[in-house]
Formats: sequence, C-alpha cells, structure tokens
Amino acid sequence: ADEVRRLKVRANAETPLDARTARQFGAEGIGLCRTEHMFFDEDRIAAVREMILADDEAGRRAALTKILPMQRDDFVELFTIMEGLPVTIRLLDPPLHEFLPHTEEDLVAVAKATGLDAAKLMRRAKELHETNPMLGHRGCRLGVSYPEIYEMQVRAIFEAACEIVAQGKTAPIPEVMHPLVAKGEEMRYLRLLTDRIAKQVMAEKGVTIEYMVGTMIELPRAAIRAGDLAEYAEFFSFGTNDLTQTTFGISRDDSGRFLNAYIDKGIFEKDPFVTLDQEGVGDLIRIATERGRAVRPDAKLGICGEHGGDPASIAFCEKIGLDYVSCSPFRVPIARLAAAQAAIGEREKDR
Ligand code: PEP
Ligand code: MG
Repeated sequence: ADEVRRLKVRANAETPLDARTARQFGAEGIGLCRTEHMFFDEDRIAAVREMILADDEAGRRAALTKILPMQRDDFVELFTIMEGLPVTIRLLDPPLHEFLPHTEEDLVAVAKATGLDAAKLMRRAKELHETNPMLGHRGCRLGVSYPEIYEMQVRAIFEAACEIVAQGKTAPIPEVMHPLVAKGEEMRYLRLLTDRIAKQVMAEKGVTIEYMVGTMIELPRAAIRAGDLAEYAEFFSFGTNDLTQTTFGISRDDSGRFLNAYIDKGIFEKDPFVTLDQEGVGDLIRIATERGRAVRPDAKLGICGEHGGDPASIAFCEKIGLDYVSCSPFRVPIARLAAAQAAIGEREKDR
C-alpha cells in the first residue's frame, strides 16, 4: 500500500503514548496536536484556572509563566518521539469556561486552591458563560483577545525545538496551526505574532529552526476566502468536524437526537460527522483548495477531522489532490490502505 499511495498519512496525537502508537502504526508525522489536552492535566489545571480568573493581563502573564515550562516539556517529549517528522501543533481552541469548575463542590475546592473567594469565582464563571460556546469565544478568537496565551504556546514550541537541537537530536519541523480562523486579517495578525515570538526565541538560543505557520479551515467563510488566508498561511488543515458542524448548522454534540430520523427517512445517507458530505462540505474543501493554491501554489493541504480516517472520505481527499490525511493512531493502518486504494482508483479513471 505504501508503494502505491500518494497521500501521506499522519496521526492526531498529543500524548506520548498516542504519538508512539501512531509511529508504530506507520504515521509519517502528527497532523493535529490538540494543545488543550495539555491544559486539562491534573497538575496544570490550577495554573490554567489562575490564568482564566486573572483580572488583567499582568495576572494572566504571571499564571502563564507557570504553564510555560510544562508546555515546553510536553513538546520536547513529542518532538523526541517524532524524530524530525513534521508535528502540527494547534494552539488553544476551546472556550475558557470549559476549564472552570462546574459543580459546587469543585468550585469550593478551586476557590481554596487559588485563594479566591467562592463568590468571585462564581461571578467569573457566570461572566464566561456563553449561550453558544461552539460559536463563541473560542479558537483563534482567544489568541486575538488574549495574545499572551498564544505567545506562551509559541514560545514553548520554539524553546522545545531549540532544546532538541541542543541535545544533538534531529531538529523537529514545527507547524504552528491556528484554529477557527475566518478572515485574512485574523490570519495576518496570528502570523505576525507567531513569527515575532519564533524569531525572539531563536535569537535568544542562537538556533535556527525550520517551521511553518498555517490555519485550520473550519468555517465556510474560511473556505470561501481561502485565498485571503493563503497570503499568510503556509498550510491548511481541514477541520471537517467543525466544518461539517458549521456548514450544516448542526451541533455535532446534539445531532444524536435527530440524525437517526434523517437516516431512517433517507434524507441523509450517512452520518455526515462520520463520512464526509462530499456535495456540500466537500465542495467547500474543493473551493478552498483551488483558491488557496491560486495564491500559494506550494501550500501544504491536509485534513484532520474524524473523516481523515474514513476510507470514502480519504478517496475524496485523493481526488481533489490534498497532500495528507491525519487520523487517530489506531486508524493509521486503514488510512494507509485506503489511500493506496484511492490512488489506484484515480489512476484507473485516467486510463
Ligand atoms: C475539527 O474541527 O475537525 C478538528 C479537528 O478540531 P476539533 O475536533 O478539535 O474541534
Ligand atoms: Mg475544530
């Protein structure tokens, strides 16, 4: 299969165990490292909450200073396991209230740990409450309103990369990825932020690291205006979980209540969160691919939603000429096989 396939196969992984598993299954890099998982860790959550609850930027920066070394260690470990293969690191995505306590009991425990009074904590949690969190203050919107969070993450990535070089190991190729971008101007802001911090760290350490900055395509606007994004983004990764959600206007967390009726009545042939809706979501991907490549012919394009491990969706990725698919580590073998079958299918069509 590996001899005939054209598509590269990467894995979605953030823990050392997942990264090792992915490599054992033949992944050629990490296509999506979701950094929020690193923030939810038992030993981090206190500092993360301190950051969220801070009243001002100075308070947030103080908490971020505590998170930086932990985040750097995560990346050192990931880069070590991946031995020079590309690693796409997505900066913080979820709405901040997800990190706050939800039960009364948790709230009291957090108040005790942070030294804040429970009433203030409760007030802050209420302030952060959103009616539609999936369409709210998440993704790169966090990085735009609190740039210090993304600055810390970019610093951690580059400090880790420099440390790998200092240890005499193969230099990693970090790919810094910004989530939920909709507009060229947003991407411009994020690109400048990333380059500024990367340069700062490389100058401090006296090391040059090859890297890329890119975006996820998770919103219809991002797909339609992909040309604007490509001015600043060197790669696109289609986040088809969100892109399916935002194209259909169906919350993937709530779809279970009615999707079966749609499937039973033949309105949907398959669950669009499992198999890519090629006519709708797929058309947006095709448009983004064409418009992105028109501006940046060498843009690297991949997919990292759940569909990246689904054979029918992989065939579509082959058809429109993406460069890679990224899926959960355990689906990597299937993806390698499906990519080969898709390549053969396309070649036969050309005959
Ligand atoms: C996606 O939206 O497809 C994606 C990979 O991001 P997440 O699932 O973390 O929202
Ligand atoms: Mg997403």
